[in-house]
Amino acid sequence: MASENTSQIYLSLVVPCYNEEASLPLFHDEASKALSRLKTENPCEFIFIDDGSKDGTMDVLRGLAAQDSRIRYISFSRNFGKEAAMLAGLQTAKGEYTAVLDADLQNPPERIPQMLEAVASGECDCAGGRRKDRKGEPPIRSFLARRFYALMNKITDIEMIDGASDFRLFNRKYREALTSLAERGRFSKGIFPWVGFKTKWFEYENIERKAGRTSWSFWKLFLYSIDGITAFSTKPLAIASFMGVLLFLAALAVIGLIVARRIVWGDPVAGWASTVCIILFCSGLQLFATGILGQYLAKTYTETKQRPYYIVREVK
Ligand code: UDP
Ligand code: MG
Repeated sequence: MASENTSQIYLSLVVPCYNEEASLPLFHDEASKALSRLKTENPCEFIFIDDGSKDGTMDVLRGLAAQDSRIRYISFSRNFGKEAAMLAGLQTAKGEYTAVLDADLQNPPERIPQMLEAVASGECDCAGGRRKDRKGEPPIRSFLARRFYALMNKITDIEMIDGASDFRLFNRKYREALTSLAERGRFSKGIFPWVGFKTKWFEYENIERKAGRTSWSFWKLFLYSIDGITAFSTKPLAIASFMGVLLFLAALAVIGLIVARRIVWGDPVAGWASTVCIILFCSGLQLFATGILGQYLAKTYTETKQRPYYIVREVK
């Protein structure tokens, strides 16, 4: 529902930017076109978050802000990551509705009017962008991503949809729910389904980035997925304990067998090779289990430090 008060911001566009000097002018053009198609008297705002960019992103932002009074920006003191940038945007947004989208035009702004209509009409609380396919992505990456989604859905209570992106448009209630989560290790792909509400999906083509390059390496993605699993599930701990019990039972059986062999056949001790294999197997499993434990301990450690999510150097 559009508010009657005309000074009220109608829609806030939250845009995290890391080294996006080349994409930003294109993005601003496209997004402005989309906003001009909205049927509202109320103003919209842009909230750009410069996530400690090392290129000329800030100069471009200052330039754009000088031409367009709808633009506000927040600049971080260093790179804090997309999650921190999104959070800063959500905390700053004043709109009745809020959209989060990437600066590289991989999340097509022309879909905004349609998504807004679904949320404003009350049909849903959140309109989510969903990539139709993983075209243009290395096959191994697609394969691992699919396995990750399958695993997440198995071991967590939340339903994660393959292809669902951070491209979202939602109402005030939904935004407040997102910012009410106080955890440091934010994992939006899990937080969106966790807060619940009604989500309607809008499919879009997976297009190549318009300019600049992606800042996600394979290793970064891998660590991000471990983060996601440990943020939303404690099942790995249960799996580790279960393996421990299983090994203990196996050990009991083998001990029984060895004793029986000694008594019945009087076999001399033999087979140091098999002993070494067993020791290696067990110590490997132990390290694996300790590693899992460590992941959760590390999470608790970061949370208890209560450090700020980001530090701001400049705002407009
Ligand atoms: N981004 C950010 N901080 C980072 C990395 C990325 O704010 O540390 C922004 C980036 O500018 C872009 C969005 O997050 O607007 C998505 O990043 P990217 O396009 O690199 O990821 P991909 O589309 O390849 O998943
Ligand atoms: Mg991108």
